[in-house]
Amino acid sequence: MSLFETEALILRTYNLAEADKIVVCLSRSAGLIRGVAKNCRKLKNRFGASLEPFTLINLTYFEKENKELVSFSQTEILRSRFNLSSDAAVMAGFSYMGDLLMDFAAPHHANDNLYRMTLACFEAVSQAPADLEWVLRYFEVWLLKLEGFLPDFRACADCQSGFEREEPSYLGADLSLRCLKCSQARGRAIAKSVHQQLRTTEKLSPSKYAEEAREVPVATRKELAQLTYQIISRVLERMPRARPTFAQ
Ligand SMILES: [Zn+2]
Repeated sequence: MSLFETEALILRTYNLAEADKIVVCLSRSAGLIRGVAKNCRKLKNRFGASLEPFTLINLTYFEKENKELVSFSQTEILRSRFNLSSDAAVMAGFSYMGDLLMDFAAPHHANDNLYRMTLACFEAVSQAPADLEWVLRYFEVWLLKLEGFLPDFRACADCQSGFEREEPSYLGADLSLRCLKCSQARGRAIAKSVHQQLRTTEKLSPSKYAEEAREVPVATRKELAQLTYQIISRVLERMPRARPTFAQ
């Protein structure tokens, strides 16, 4: 049995037996972790409020060989999101990001870029809840990119020519992006404006991206949302769970 310490973001908890919980979190040094927190539902317990979803904690846990579930030993709150718990839209957005992480992140496998990107997105929403929609788009694009599912938006998958002109590019069933000539206009047409948004996510932090995207036209917003939805659904081979929708 080994003892580990890591920073971790609580994603979801499930009640177990009378007083315990199963906790799913994204950790900095071990990726997605599922663990048992014993007696945490008793009135006085050593975990206190640290296991509330979306709390950032310092976590100490035991891991037994060949056991999928770890045992939570100690926790310390680094960042509580209790002040946002009455904001239903923000909570739905956090849950959605948590769901996607549970679908995409590798268990027991550190991914520092994914961890830092996730934290930056949670922080961006906490600072500016009104930017939730754009932060979620940013999160989807980066999650797909870091997990290797985002098409190459720089050049046509067939002829390698760059997407510089004003004409749309086309997303094929194989999730590759092609120019007009190579795709013969088959697949989902991706407007230049959407293309531009995807390229912009590469350069900016989530909060900066959301700030700059506030003036983007509704049509582009909708199209980008449909595009990420299509790619995520294709990769998961089902629809993403409970994806928040936004009034246009
Ligand atoms: Zn081409």
